Amino acid sequence: MYLSKLFIPITKDLPAEAKIKSHQLMLRTGMIKQSSAGIYSWLPLGFKVMKKIEKIVREEQNLIGAQEMLMPTIQSSEIWKESGRYEDYGEEMLRMKDRQGREILYGPTNEELITDIFRTSIKSYKSLPQILYHIQWKFRDEIRPRFGVMRCREFFMKDAYSFDLSDEEAKNSYNKMFYSYIRTFNRLGLKAIPMAADTGPIGGDLSHEFVILAETGESQIYADKNILEIDLNQYKFNDSSLQKMRNDFSKIYAVTDEKYNEDEFNKKVKKDNQMITKGIEVGHIFYFGDKYSKPMNCSIDDKDGKKTSVKMGSYGIGVSRLVGAAIEANYNNNIMKWPKSISPFDVVIIPSISKNNKENLEKAKKIYQDLKNQNIDVLLDDVDENMSNKFKKHDLIGVPFQIIIGSKSEGNNYEFKELNSKSEILNLEKIKLKLKT
Ligand code: ATP
Ligand code: MG
Repeated sequence: MYLSKLFIPITKDLPAEAKIKSHQLMLRTGMIKQSSAGIYSWLPLGFKVMKKIEKIVREEQNLIGAQEMLMPTIQSSEIWKESGRYEDYGEEMLRMKDRQGREILYGPTNEELITDIFRTSIKSYKSLPQILYHIQWKFRDEIRPRFGVMRCREFFMKDAYSFDLSDEEAKNSYNKMFYSYIRTFNRLGLKAIPMAADTGPIGGDLSHEFVILAETGESQIYADKNILEIDLNQYKFNDSSLQKMRNDFSKIYAVTDEKYNEDEFNKKVKKDNQMITKGIEVGHIFYFGDKYSKPMNCSIDDKDGKKTSVKMGSYGIGVSRLVGAAIEANYNNNIMKWPKSISPFDVVIIPSISKNNKENLEKAKKIYQDLKNQNIDVLLDDVDENMSNKFKKHDLIGVPFQIIIGSKSEGNNYEFKELNSKSEILNLEKIKLKLKT
């Protein structure tokens, strides 16, 4: 893509409510545009990043055997009345009536709908276990939408649901998802810490929030630094290894303020290892047994032909929130550096252009085509502007690698720079190699 053609409405004037850096940056670089309170359009640059995140989330869900489907955004109130949540959900649920006067709603989550689908389709334990997921827009009428895409009203979420015959088997499904989440956030270039979370009225200990460290996060966290050091490569995809993984994580102290206890923290974590900071919740997994299947009569025949309520869990990832969270985690000293896996482009070519010298631009176009042919997603800054402004702009757009074509480049050698590092002079073949690894 040539920068001059890219729809990237860079804005200088920021609205007063844009208080955190991800919100500011996303508006400045034209990634999103607010359409009304807590509701955004995703413009090409932002959309591209979100799609890359979505793809990784999808690949990692498929890898553990979860099956993708798509449920609608609009749901009937009937199923929510069956589960008892129509009243309980309160003001966050956007309720509407259709022309026949039927009560409908914009789904804030999908436990009821998936339970309804499941109960009419699956009758025997032989069809279990199952994990189904979709990646779909949700609406929650948040009382204070803020921080841009981090807490908005309409947002993009991956939500998965597991169905098992027994608590024991359900635990295996939960562990698979735990593993998948750790892998997913890792691939996104983010350190997400699983934290034991409150399970609310159902009890039990099977709920984890996945939290990314960032000062602007809304969750207060208390953790032992060692939790960042666990070697993920040691775990294999089998039931016992996955259980070991969850045990290893559980042994190390990491909680949000809901579960925090000062004495316990001081007793369990050495002073030097204590980490007290803020974090952003990017995922939440939950085992809730028959909470929905029981009231909604979602039962199956077990091995003895007896009807039993299916055991369920649900598993969310905030795909759109992750775009903001990745910025919060990677934007420092006015430089945004996207993790390679989700960067809107692999590399940007920045030629020094002036009225009388278009030679660099011609060189840049050739390199551009060459890289394109190798399936490298490249941005070419063909805008006639001085280099220092260009660099400032690219510090914000955040493409992690730059090929600079100016005074330091000669023949087939060019200045190659990784954001936040010193540049080096390399020939094009070496540059390609670097981009591909
Ligand atoms: P929070 O405590 O932040 O409100 P939640 O517990 O209500 O989150 P879940 O119902 O577990 O969230 O939803 C799964 C994921 O969806 C969350 O981990 C988060 O990443 C994302 N999410 C939830 N609410 C929002 C929102 N208003 N805007 C953007 N993403 C959200
Ligand atoms: Mg919430």
